[in-house]
Amino acid sequence: IQVISTVETEEVTWMSDETFLPLTDLLIDADYFMAVAVLSAKRSKDPNTQVGACLVDQDNKIIGTGHNCMPNGGDGKLPWNRDGDKLDTKYMYVCHAELNAIVNASAKADVKGCTMYVTLFPCNECTKLIIQAGLKEVVYLCDKYYDTPETIASKRMLDMAGIPKNKLLVFISSVESSSSEKYGHCVLCVVQNNSFFLVSRKCNTK
Ligand SMILES: [Zn+2]
Repeated sequence: IQVISTVETEEVTWMSDETFLPLTDLLIDADYFMAVAVLSAKRSKDPNTQVGACLVDQDNKIIGTGHNCMPNGGDGKLPWNRDGDKLDTKYMYVCHAELNAIVNASAKADVKGCTMYVTLFPCNECTKLIIQAGLKEVVYLCDKYYDTPETIASKRMLDMAGIPKNKLLVFISSVESSSSEKYGHCVLCVVQNNSFFLVSRKCNTK
């Protein structure tokens, strides 16, 4: 996959003109990193909850991404069920997006001091990993499980570790894909408020 352009307003024919993001109004870092997390979530095979994470170092470079998935070798063999016998539910097996982002990054780089952008507030297990890996900040999009013991425990631990948790307020309402004649495969559109930007990718399917 080759990135053709990160801002490609000329190619848009399937959105109305008034939603164009002016080229001078470039994406701010936080929106961009969270957009990458949102796109990463789109790779998850979980039929109910897709979560994505993007790990950014102190130089504002992305060093790892992740989505919730089954451990290596478990694809198609382990269940995505939410109910039933505990051993038959996903909770016993699934690797969360944050874990995958940290593991993917730490194979190549030092994750200490990084910021975790994640689409859903981290659970208590991922929070332990975030703290022990030395991350310095968590930026999240959604906190829908705020009243669960897992999330309450997460916040308690993050507070104790002095790790700020910032909710990204101005943000993406959707990420859509569409086929493009010129680029052959997909155009991804991230909508934020009434503006949007595109990430166009040329896919070599061979
Ligand atoms: Zn987790």
